[in-house]
Amino acid sequence: MIDLHTHTTFSDGELIPAELVRRATKAGYQGLAITDHADPSNLHLILDNLLPFAKQAGPFLDLNLIVGVELTHVPPPLIPDMVEQARAAGAMLVVVHGETIVEPVARGTNLAAIEAGVDVLAHPGLITEQEVLLAAEKGVHLEITTRKGHSLTNGHVAAMARRFGAKLVIDNDAHAPGDLISQDLRRQVALGAGLSQEEYLEAERNAQHIMSRVLRQNG
Ligand SMILES: [Zn+2]
Ligand SMILES: [Zn+2]
Repeated sequence: MIDLHTHTTFSDGELIPAELVRRATKAGYQGLAITDHADPSNLHLILDNLLPFAKQAGPFLDLNLIVGVELTHVPPPLIPDMVEQARAAGAMLVVVHGETIVEPVARGTNLAAIEAGVDVLAHPGLITEQEVLLAAEKGVHLEITTRKGHSLTNGHVAAMARRFGAKLVIDNDAHAPGDLISQDLRRQVALGAGLSQEEYLEAERNAQHIMSRVLRQNG
């Protein structure tokens, strides 16, 4: 079980990285990405602190840890440059905080993220046909989220991904220990979004593939 979207005290999470990782290990996770909320003001603050943590602590952890960012409420015209800056600063994974219906995310965020070729578009809300087609073409994974509020549009995201051939991942968007849910609950959330058992397993495999690729690229 792998989760590619979590938060620590470097944004609005409750736990410092070491405790988040420990809690995730005990919750049964084999891989985790820390993806704190980033904008132009704190991108480097996050990466300059989390990358050394991953380097120092990584060899002693019982799960595979990767470090990225979740670009959040960044004005859409700035998103392409921010994605480049994040990768140049060492982000192993770039997530964008998509157009969830429960926050006033700027219109155009989904499209800008997909065009920029991010790894995961988180909680993309009422994503359009054009956006899903482009996500499929560019290999941008769309997120089924277990987080309350954001999860209200999971059914739409699942149906659109199936219809237009986009890949899915399932994420906790964990901010607190209780958000690191069990394998069983992940499956139930996925099935509740309308995925079949096979589609659920494929989404979990997609996260494994992303994790393996990132680990390979970062030696
Ligand atoms: Zn948050
Ligand atoms: Zn998040």
